[in-house]
Amino acid sequence: MKIISAFAGATILTAALLAAPVFADSQNVPGGPSTNGEWSMESIVTYSDMIKILRDIERTSKGKVEVFTLDNYGKSEQERSFYVAKVGSGPQKIWIQARIHGNERLTTEAALQLVKTLGTGKAEKEVRKILEELTLYVIPIYNPDGSEMNTRTTKLIDDETKEPVLDKNGKPREIDLNRDWNLLDKDEDGEIDGFAADESKAFYKYWTDLDPDFMIDLHHQGFKTVPGTNESTSMSLGVSLAPNGPTLPDTPYNDITRQAQGYVFDALGKYGYTHIDRYTVGDGQYEIDIRGGVTSAMMLGLDYDGLNAEGHTNPAIFFETKGMTREGSLGQKSNGYLTKQNYLGLKALLYGLASGEVEKVDPEHWEDIPHNEITGYSTDYAGTIMK
Ligand SMILES: [Zn+2]
Repeated sequence: MKIISAFAGATILTAALLAAPVFADSQNVPGGPSTNGEWSMESIVTYSDMIKILRDIERTSKGKVEVFTLDNYGKSEQERSFYVAKVGSGPQKIWIQARIHGNERLTTEAALQLVKTLGTGKAEKEVRKILEELTLYVIPIYNPDGSEMNTRTTKLIDDETKEPVLDKNGKPREIDLNRDWNLLDKDEDGEIDGFAADESKAFYKYWTDLDPDFMIDLHHQGFKTVPGTNESTSMSLGVSLAPNGPTLPDTPYNDITRQAQGYVFDALGKYGYTHIDRYTVGDGQYEIDIRGGVTSAMMLGLDYDGLNAEGHTNPAIFFETKGMTREGSLGQKSNGYLTKQNYLGLKALLYGLASGEVEKVDPEHWEDIPHNEITGYSTDYAGTIMK
């Protein structure tokens, strides 16, 4: 296993020259779905809608937003193009991805809202700062096939027959793309077990070319309550390799990831989003320590086929927004509220990274984000590891 050789994220930590930020949105305490027209994308579900909206944003952005495909790197199993929106001109590259799980659709809407605001909205002070210090590479739909099928996973398609690849039980082989960046484990034959899907290969190659400084991954989760309360959690904040956990016991990433989430926690609280907790599994007593996730592989500096021989790594965090379409818990009424929460958390974090505010957060503030006592780690390489 490759160990972190450098702290690439250090370039993020530029000194803040500005006073504490005052977000224009901070007076606008959200209490439900907005009907003021700003959240007009709530009905987006399809891949083709995403393309159309990206093109609209690009056209009205007067050159500030550039939309392109990753066709040079590959297409999805069902031959759909991957789309990226680039906005900003700063030296720090931020990779933002949504909907690696195809049925987690509000994440796409938040990503598009972010691009729209940064590319076509009023040039508020914090927006200018973000665009000056950062360049964002936003992937609104990482899993286009799963988005079309409304499934978490995707299916492997045989390149020649164009039929689904079957598993040993004769069922179509389904791949969770967020467990497919895993070259650390080998299967029983000693073969490298990873990159089953074309999606993973294409995005991996793009990552090795781009070498981002920071990455944010957007998800949905099922119903849970904030520890110590009866309140439904509206968002959980997570790091896929547990800070100071078994895989990364002692790296600077344990600070920057916790600082970033501590910053998001505070920012969302100021916006009135108070039902935020830490991402845990089991009955809330386990943190995850998953190596095959995209965020994890980026932090570990995954080197496949010599494409990352230089050992690039970057810190990465994820948001889990309430609501899963498959559980029927994603009601129309709350969509605007949840999309806005995602968007505001993202935008706040970007300002925090751009301004240097994130690095001023005490990493131990992570402990203040509601969570149960952590007694172990849920892993994808050794079952559950008790502390
Ligand atoms: Zn997910």
